[in-house]
Amino acid sequence: MATISNSELRRALAERVRFYNELGIYDFYAREPRTASTADEGSSIPKISAYSREEMSPRKSSVVAKAEMQLVSPEHNISDPVAALRLIREDLGDCTRCKLHQQGRKQIVFGVGNPRADLLFVGEGPGADEDAQGEPFVGRAGQLLNNMIKAMGLRREEIYIANVVKCRPPGNRTPERDECETCSPFLMRQIAAIKPKVIVALGAVSAKNLLAINAPMSELRGRFYDFMPTGVASDPEWRGAKLAVTYHPAFLLRDPRQKGEAWKDLQMVMKYLGLKPPTAPV
Ligand code: SF4
Repeated sequence: MATISNSELRRALAERVRFYNELGIYDFYAREPRTASTADEGSSIPKISAYSREEMSPRKSSVVAKAEMQLVSPEHNISDPVAALRLIREDLGDCTRCKLHQQGRKQIVFGVGNPRADLLFVGEGPGADEDAQGEPFVGRAGQLLNNMIKAMGLRREEIYIANVVKCRPPGNRTPERDECETCSPFLMRQIAAIKPKVIVALGAVSAKNLLAINAPMSELRGRFYDFMPTGVASDPEWRGAKLAVTYHPAFLLRDPRQKGEAWKDLQMVMKYLGLKPPTAPV
């Protein structure tokens, strides 16, 4: 049986750590492996346990699928979400971590809103209007989202809005898996900094990336999920968020008959947050 030398293992680990550094991940905890590692028993190199996708709970994100490591990010000890988000944005920089950086994006669309929001909406990625203005949900779909927020008795400035990927996919195509996997650690860090009470995943791409569940919208909607951002060390006092799934506003523009269903999802969120029922539906 082929054996792995210490130097090969060190080189492989160095490459893996460099990969995580490029994602904005700097410090790691080594967890107890579930199975024997191929590393030399006497080696001082920390063992990283490998999990197959089947072994993983569906609650773990694709980021965790890459290694059983937990991120201690630069903003970890910063309790002020404004400062934490600023650090995350600085860390993102003029990002070239995935191929979307060279497919026509005008700018990175980081996120917008109240850094202390109880409610966070997560879409899939910027479209043309968002790419032009540097803000998520500002086009027609954004107008509809604004109406949905108003109907909940809230103002856009009171909530936070972000996307799974922060650069516009060309032609508004669906972001690809590698793009989502590369960008989503920054979303996880945003969530850990904001510590919302409720996250609403807008559309299947957002829901599947946040929940790491591959299921149709009909199965994803209509219930709350317990959500904790993965791959990032969050405030131990924070017990995580409730996550609800609803239709993406762009989908509702194409099929307005589903607005009633989306409204049911939002009413579930309102009830949980104790928001006053509006006088008129979406
Ligand atoms: S989508 Fe995310 S990971 Fe990809 S280039 Fe843009 S900011 Fe970087």
